[in-house]
Amino acid sequence: MRRPRWGHLLLLAALLLPLLWPLQQLAERYYGERLRERSQQTLALYVANLQATLRRFEVLPSLLSDLPELRQLLASPADPAGRDRANALLIRVAEQTGAAVIYLLDAQGNTLATSNVGQADDFSGRNFAFRPYYRDAMAGKRARFFGLGTTSQRRGYYFADALDDTGGTLGVLVIKIDLEDHESLWGQSDERLLVTDARGVVILSSHGPWRFLARQPLSAAQLAEIARDQPYPSASPAPLALNARDWLEQQRPLPEAGWNVSILTPRTLLAAQVQSAVLIAAAALAVLLLLLGLLLQRRRHYLARIDQDSRARRELEQRVAERTADLQALNQHLREAVLEREAAQQQLVSTQDELVQAGKLSALGTMAASISHELNQPLAAIRSYADNASVLLDHGRLDDTRGNLRQISELTTRMASIISHLRAYARRDRHAPESVALQPALDDALALLAKRRRELNIELHRDLPEAPLWVQAGETRLRQILANLLGNALDALSERAPPRQLWLSTQLDSEGVTLQLRDNGPGFSAEALLRAREPFFTTKQHGNGLGLGLAICNNLVDALEGRLTLANHPQGGAQLSLFLRHAKDAMHSASHEDLPG
Ligand code: ADP
Repeated sequence: MRRPRWGHLLLLAALLLPLLWPLQQLAERYYGERLRERSQQTLALYVANLQATLRRFEVLPSLLSDLPELRQLLASPADPAGRDRANALLIRVAEQTGAAVIYLLDAQGNTLATSNVGQADDFSGRNFAFRPYYRDAMAGKRARFFGLGTTSQRRGYYFADALDDTGGTLGVLVIKIDLEDHESLWGQSDERLLVTDARGVVILSSHGPWRFLARQPLSAAQLAEIARDQPYPSASPAPLALNARDWLEQQRPLPEAGWNVSILTPRTLLAAQVQSAVLIAAAALAVLLLLLGLLLQRRRHYLARIDQDSRARRELEQRVAERTADLQALNQHLREAVLEREAAQQQLVSTQDELVQAGKLSALGTMAASISHELNQPLAAIRSYADNASVLLDHGRLDDTRGNLRQISELTTRMASIISHLRAYARRDRHAPESVALQPALDDALALLAKRRRELNIELHRDLPEAPLWVQAGETRLRQILANLLGNALDALSERAPPRQLWLSTQLDSEGVTLQLRDNGPGFSAEALLRAREPFFTTKQHGNGLGLGLAICNNLVDALEGRLTLANHPQGGAQLSLFLRHAKDAMHSASHEDLPG
């Protein structure tokens, strides 16, 4: 996540900062206007107040001048009773009107009666002929005067009016009002009020130090006037230097008195307000910028998240695409594998066809080999019978010759039967089992091999019961099996030196008869024990063996539901066990097997 770009915001703030300048101008104008309005109102209030006071006393002198008490006193100034009455009147009027002092001067300016009689600054008997209001009134002019009280030292405003008679002016009635009360009403505030007289000298001010300072330069005539009339404590008032930039000033004339009332507001008030307004604006701007910054930051976060999401989506899509490509490749691979497999299967089928064909050929070969193998023994026997017969004929032994010829005939019958069996075996025909007596079949097989047995000088140990053992077999098949097993035994015995022995014995159990054939030959080799039943397995040399004998026997025994077991005897030599089932009673019938065809 990137850092928020506060630097950019600071730059923006710096750019926006000049905006505060016109804002300040606006605020100054606005607050200046407000201030001016307020000052205007204050000023109007004070002017109205002052005006009301002045107007109240404006007409009072002329009203009072006709009162008989004052006229009588002017007529007889030495009359104490008249003076007392006049004094009492002035006291009452002063109390009622709120005037500071009311007093009556005679034509020479001496005080005849006064409202402040008996007080510390009692005017009684004092001469005010030096005051301008006396001179003006005596001259018949409108007499108004501002001045500092000579005894009270309080600023006052004097209204004077002449009391006339047919014979001329009798005296002057003067009313003094205290202006300091007004000043004290103004109180203390940041604004300053000041009243300047016609000469521009400050006569009233809410700010003490400004009193009696001149707001404009005084001419020589004015200075002479001041020296004569003594309205101020000093004869040459110092200038009041005000910096116009520090103050906001508003003025109103007071024409009744020839005065000017001003209100001065310090600009610092304005500055403070403008400053706070600008500060607020700046703060608002800062907050705005902050918010903007936060908004931008949030927006950036949002964009970053969207970007991240889209990147994740792209990655996912890419992964999906890769996966899809993988799957497609796999699919293609599988399709190719299927095609390959189909091709292989087709090849297999054709190979199988070839194999079947080869199998047929091999079966044919096997059959041909079997026929030659199986017929070898009877053929050999026939030859020797035939040879014997010719020798017997030479000797004229006709009966013996006939016996040999009968043997030859029987053997040919057997041979025909063998051929038919082999044919049936090759066709996988099934002959129903018959009941065959074991001993005669064994005798026949031994008779076939009689000549070889004699040549090899084999000692036969025969241990069989006299009573015929009926077993489930076929006449020819049983003879075939026995002739093969006995032939193998003779072959094995021929490989060793005498004494050569052959044992034949039987064992009976509830199921059948087991014929044991044992010789004292070399016995089965380890390989022969495993493979002797396979067709064409032979250990015999020089074409003596075809390896078909045990294969044929095994097949014949299986078909008869019997068992052929190969083993070696513990004392050496081979021991074969031929198990055949007991014949069922129904089978005790004549054999069909030996019939040729
Ligand atoms: P073949 O006699 O033509 O060899 P067989 O199927 O009859 O074919 O026998 C297979 C093999 O079993 C023989 O080659 C031999 O090694 C072995 N065999 C059979 N009978 C005997 C026996 N009595 N003693 C020793 N070996 C035997």
